Amino acid sequence: MLPAKGPNESSWWKDCVRASKNADISDDLKKGARTVLEIIDSGAFRTTDTAADSTHQIEAIVWPANFTVRFACVHCKRCVNNIRRLTGSQCPRKMVWTKFRKGQRDILVPLAAQAPSARQRAASRALDILGLQQDGAVDQNP
Ligand SMILES: [Zn+2]
Repeated sequence: MLPAKGPNESSWWKDCVRASKNADISDDLKKGARTVLEIIDSGAFRTTDTAADSTHQIEAIVWPANFTVRFACVHCKRCVNNIRRLTGSQCPRKMVWTKFRKGQRDILVPLAAQAPSARQRAASRALDILGLQQDGAVDQNP
């Protein structure tokens, strides 16, 4: 999923793609090139995002425990039942670790580890959006 314009037209982008596949260069360089591609692919550098920095970027997710809809901000990873709790507050633009998040992780991780099903996939997606699958998320628990 490339951005609509920009990196895919530039030579460094092609260099990155080539480097990530080139068997003749070191693994470290390849890994670095792949990391750059993943970051761009993730939309972290999306230049079309003109929303103010203090605005939550909200995604609707299916909460696998009871199949209700919850709302999560992709930046600060807050996850709430009522979307007004996000639209009515400012986004700190960084993940904030709380006991509430730990509780969410404790619910989602076992569900995501189950055999593939609608519930398992919903749990996996929620973990992904909430940034709870990333290495180190646990370590941020103060
Ligand atoms: Zn936010």
